[in-house]
Amino acid sequence: MFSRCPLPLLVLTLIAAPVASLAQTAPDPAIETRIDDLLRRLTLEQKIDLLGGEDGMFTRAEPAIGLPRLKMSDGPLGVRTWGPSTAYAGGVALAASWDADLARRIGMSIGRDARARGVNFLLGPGVNIYRLPVNGRNFEYLGEDPYLAARMAVGYIEGVQSQGVVATVKHYAANNSEQDRHNIDTHVDERTLREIYLPAFEAAVTEAHVGAVMNSYNLVDGQHATQNAMLNLQILKGDWGFRGLLMSDWGATYDGIAAANGGLDLEMPSAVYMTRATLVPAVRSGQVPMTVIDDKVRRLLRVTLENHFLDRPQLVESIPLYNRGGDAVALTSAQESIVLLKNEGGLLPLDRYRVRSIAVLGPDAWPAVPGGGGSSTVTAFAPSSLLTALSDMLGSSVRVTYVKGVKDEDEAAAETSWFLDAQGTQRGLTVETFNGPDFSGPAQRDVLDQLNTFNGNTWGPDRPVAHARRISGFFLPPRSGRYYVIARGVGHDAYRLSLDGRPVLEQPRREGQSPQSAIVALAAARPVRVVFDYLGPSDAITADLGIVAEADLIDPEAARLAAAADVAIVSVGFDSRCESEGYDRTFTLPAGQDRLVEQVEAANPHTVVLLNGGGAMDVSGWVDRTPALVHGLYGGQEGGRAMAQVLLGEVNPSGHLPFSFERRMEDNPCYSHYYAPPGTTRVDYAEGVFLGYRYYDRAAVKPLFAFGHGLSYTTFQFANLQVTGHEVAFDVTNTGRRRGGEVAQVYVGDPSARVDRPTKELKRFQRIYLSPGQTRHLRFTLDRRSLAYWDVATHGWKVDPGRFVVYVGDSSDHVPLQAEFQEP
Ligand code: BGC
Repeated sequence: MFSRCPLPLLVLTLIAAPVASLAQTAPDPAIETRIDDLLRRLTLEQKIDLLGGEDGMFTRAEPAIGLPRLKMSDGPLGVRTWGPSTAYAGGVALAASWDADLARRIGMSIGRDARARGVNFLLGPGVNIYRLPVNGRNFEYLGEDPYLAARMAVGYIEGVQSQGVVATVKHYAANNSEQDRHNIDTHVDERTLREIYLPAFEAAVTEAHVGAVMNSYNLVDGQHATQNAMLNLQILKGDWGFRGLLMSDWGATYDGIAAANGGLDLEMPSAVYMTRATLVPAVRSGQVPMTVIDDKVRRLLRVTLENHFLDRPQLVESIPLYNRGGDAVALTSAQESIVLLKNEGGLLPLDRYRVRSIAVLGPDAWPAVPGGGGSSTVTAFAPSSLLTALSDMLGSSVRVTYVKGVKDEDEAAAETSWFLDAQGTQRGLTVETFNGPDFSGPAQRDVLDQLNTFNGNTWGPDRPVAHARRISGFFLPPRSGRYYVIARGVGHDAYRLSLDGRPVLEQPRREGQSPQSAIVALAAARPVRVVFDYLGPSDAITADLGIVAEADLIDPEAARLAAAADVAIVSVGFDSRCESEGYDRTFTLPAGQDRLVEQVEAANPHTVVLLNGGGAMDVSGWVDRTPALVHGLYGGQEGGRAMAQVLLGEVNPSGHLPFSFERRMEDNPCYSHYYAPPGTTRVDYAEGVFLGYRYYDRAAVKPLFAFGHGLSYTTFQFANLQVTGHEVAFDVTNTGRRRGGEVAQVYVGDPSARVDRPTKELKRFQRIYLSPGQTRHLRFTLDRRSLAYWDVATHGWKVDPGRFVVYVGDSSDHVPLQAEFQEP
């Protein structure tokens, strides 16, 4: 219900009201003078040597000025690079907590983990916006909303940097897909860039004073990020006043002179382009001004001196590597991030004194699934799985049974019977190895029993293909029905699979790749000719190929255990093998998981489905019949324990989705133009600012679960909204019977704006905990930026006078309180 406008209506003068952007903290004159002196002591060659890293994760030392090399480690989910460490529920899971203070605590804890390993630069947080659920790195990032992402990023960075460690916000900018990431050319209009894709970077610089920024691989408006003067010089170092160090992503520098002049300060992991050979003549000829080189070295020295890296050891041996304080933060992060999506009939929490048996099923139940794959993968000391945590908590009082329930690609490939002849008398597959990378000319012939040689690397190094291989044979279906065709290769392999001449799967050459599958109908004893054309490394085949009947892919034991138990819990979704940096994942669940859920649900009406993954996934085949659905995202090392606590009611779930969860991927506004058209690299962000809930709010189609959605075992009520000036105040009451956490969300709409704006946009939020019956009065102040849009005429933030609407609630589709005010 709309309350009456609390302000008198003023006669409006339509004046553009610019909103100022903060500059970074002022330089310390003493440090700048010291840097002047150090710069005077360096030759041009010595300066240029400092523009590239070394040994994978270090800046270079310069003994002439007593500068040591500085150590880096990957983030953002923990200190990843230097052996086992604490794995937090960072990234999208952290965003699901909507807890900026938790972000700060995680940052502090990661900062301590970094100091325990002598790390100077932590390569996180990652703040690229979630456009489509398939982006292989969504799990590292902070969701679809720029304001939420900015708040989380600021907390995290302040936490890391409070420990004397430099945070590195990445990947700057507009890097929202992993597919062909070195070549993708993002075209995004100025307003959309400023309103959606840059605010988290901007807040990292202007509010959290982040010490380092990492440029992304992709191009923006036709120019690689590392040499993009508009992004680096005009916006980052100009508009936002960034005084820190701008480094490249690893291997994201493509031109030494363009990068030097385009704002890049440090080429990582080593100088391939910003070298003496390229830059000394360029400086001498005036192509690269000396002041440009000096500024880059100044930035490295500034970060070094401001963080006292010359004055104290970075390694703090008194902080344990196996840090139990970190474990506690990791557990809190996992607990706060779990999102209860659906809970019909109050199936959850399970009553441990009434339930006598639980069937735990699914590939994600064990072992633990702390995170996705790629450079963020932290090796946790003792990650907890759902199965072990639940069993530990229940002890002997409840019988816990378990089966994985679905075969993976290795198992399918190892068990497939191949035949050389259509009659099925001679076993094996024929391998023809050609001399060149095309399938022509004389070939060497061999026979293989199975194609089961995948070496575990979904994300592999680029290498020339010396030999094309055609692997062929027959598959004799033992019975009629649905079969899964499953294939997988190592990063940079390419393959094409056909059945009886019909193309079934195709994997283009890409730096990373996930397993692929297709469902086909086959008739009993009718041989199918299989041809797998494969381009891989010269010395080995590194691929899996299997054809497996649905009935054999899904273990019938799963339904049997489910039927025999009081409650069934099926844990499905993604993991580091199929959701990772280097490639995009599928929207559909990995092969067979849908069927597993369906069979378990058919066997036991008390089925709880748990999801793992960096975002939405296709649950449309069964979700309407599922009584309880929980998204665990990736909970870090304590994800299993936290999930078990939620299932048993020891923890009341309080996470809220930081992305819209669509029913069909086609419903997402980016779906039709997420990838460049075949044979091209240009991607247009044609949806503009209407991304996620900004789109769904005005579209006929609604998401399955809205941005901001998250249930609890208790209930909350919002009341008494008052908007006075720019102050928004309201009450939240716990109207249920358990203590619980709620996320109050304040959105603002600007229906009288002179440009087309979303119905509402998130501008404030707060996580609170309330006991039953308790009411909390919340108060927020909206600054002018909360009302502003990016005006392309003046290239600045602008507030149009007129009517504004404040919406308050606990998800983007549940805003029970609304009020208007007028902006003069
Ligand atoms: C990733 C970065 C990471 C770097 C160092 C790159 O492949 O994109 O996020 O920090 O590697 O491991």
